[in-house]
Amino acid sequence: MKKCYKCGLKGVVYLPQYRIAFCKEHYLEWYSRRVEETIKEFHMFTRESRVLVAVSGGKDSLSLWDVLYRLGYKADGLYIDLGIGEYSERSRIVCERFAQTRGLELHVLSLGEAIATIPEIKRLEKRPPCSFCGQLKRYYMNRFAKEKGYSILATGHNLDDESATLFSNLLAWNMDYLARQFPLLPEGKGFVRRVKPLFKLSEKENALYAFLGGIEYVEEECPFAEGASSIGYKKVLSQLEEESPGTKLRFYMDFLRRLHPLLKAQEVELRHCSICGEPTTGEVCSLCRLRERLSSKTLSSSPSS
Ligand SMILES: [Zn+2]
Ligand SMILES: [Zn+2]
Repeated sequence: MKKCYKCGLKGVVYLPQYRIAFCKEHYLEWYSRRVEETIKEFHMFTRESRVLVAVSGGKDSLSLWDVLYRLGYKADGLYIDLGIGEYSERSRIVCERFAQTRGLELHVLSLGEAIATIPEIKRLEKRPPCSFCGQLKRYYMNRFAKEKGYSILATGHNLDDESATLFSNLLAWNMDYLARQFPLLPEGKGFVRRVKPLFKLSEKENALYAFLGGIEYVEEECPFAEGASSIGYKKVLSQLEEESPGTKLRFYMDFLRRLHPLLKAQEVELRHCSICGEPTTGEVCSLCRLRERLSSKTLSSSPSS
């Protein structure tokens, strides 16, 4: 291991794409600065903003909450309990402990109370769980933030997540998804501002921050994530990254610089769902349609149970 780039002490972390090593203290400092620079570069929020951080109990979202807290931002947490047995239970406890030890406020929203748990919905939906789960989370995070007066919703999406999504959207030439892929989505039309302050940091860099920063997090992946297509895309990109460090960041940053500005015209018109009032492209939002399917299923299956 090389010596720390800042102080010359023995390095504990080596970042191949920058060809530099850091000791523990200077790695944590580098990481914080990187997040701070990203927030400023994209005008995500200021120290006056009320930020709601969506936390899952995993390393990315808890690292995000931790670094925002250390940088002096006003950030509260939101944990959405998906009702996935012990996995959800453990994740909630980890988030609660995280908040408690730092004196931070954590909100908990139970998906089971709001509509139905993920296992319940899975029994009825043919789509892969990650697809409707992501949709439900986005819907309730946004609604919750609005109701509680938060102007910013921050998520822990990292460079691996974002470049894998970009890759899959490019493979399918999903023009409207590509147009909406940006580290900051502005407020308005029923949405609060949504930001991804960790989008330049890789999964590995976040794991290092969590580990060296002494953050306790849930290491196991969601049991339903197995076989998700994003895992395959991540694997391919990681292979390229290994052969040529910096590929993922270049791929994503060049998309933002070169292609994204040309996609503005692709933006779809949004209106209000006629049932719940949340933003949607159609007459009734996909969540209300899911709710209808759930209730008709319960009705039709109740006589036999
Ligand atoms: Zn150092
Ligand atoms: Zn609706």
